[in-house]
Amino acid sequence: MAGIPANEARALNAPFGIFGGTFTPIHNGHLRLALELRERLALESVRVIPSAQPPHREAPQISAQRRMEWVQLALENEPALIADDCELRRAGPSYTHDTLAALRGEFPDRPLVLLLGDDAANQFHTWHRWREIIDLAHLVFVERPYEPPAPAAELLAHLRGRRAPSHVALSQQLAGLWTSANIPPLAISSTRVRRLLKAGRSVRGLVPESVIASFTHKDISLLTHDEDPATD
Ligand code: ATP
Repeated sequence: MAGIPANEARALNAPFGIFGGTFTPIHNGHLRLALELRERLALESVRVIPSAQPPHREAPQISAQRRMEWVQLALENEPALIADDCELRRAGPSYTHDTLAALRGEFPDRPLVLLLGDDAANQFHTWHRWREIIDLAHLVFVERPYEPPAPAAELLAHLRGRRAPSHVALSQQLAGLWTSANIPPLAISSTRVRRLLKAGRSVRGLVPESVIASFTHKDISLLTHDEDPATD
């Protein structure tokens, strides 16, 4: 983006949403978040990007390749949601900063909009080169059931004066603004899915059917290896 300041209002291509996670496994809460935000923010598409080597948590027993396959299955009938394996193609820890920098290089005229559930937003100030992330993308904070928003003081200070005046503003500059979005809450987590599977219970309604249909005994064993069975 040599020569063009990120905050200069001008005609740009429609923004891409970027939605990362471990997706162990992907569930309907993830799917609804991506669909709702694409529609509300008029995003051209949302790239759903499984973390190959999550920097902030222990690597799941289940492989990144398998988590990616589930994302592909979940999105197969959603042309505007793109299963993106860019973090599987890179060695080392999967830093969101590096993913966004690569996308910025590839798509110099696309605003990038990073979608963050509350738990991710609350940890954002610990992410690798987090201040630079805000120069590469807009941030959208999404409410998540049972995860009250608690952004760190340093993040709030850094974001001061950068609130997007409207959703349209996200399309008018490449990066650097933030907003929040309330979507109808779905109290689903991958942890609960794994705990139900561990207890031998159904995850129907929580996980896309195509993903459930693909689960093998080995998948379930790897997914539930470190989990306690659900009791509720
Ligand atoms: P785990 O239970 O293993 O921590 P998870 O359900 O939180 O998994 P992740 O892959 O860690 O899923 O989450 C990826 C992103 O999706 C994060 O930004 C997270 O906040 C968001 N997210 C996950 N579930 C929901 C949900 N039900 N509603 C809104 N956001 C969600």
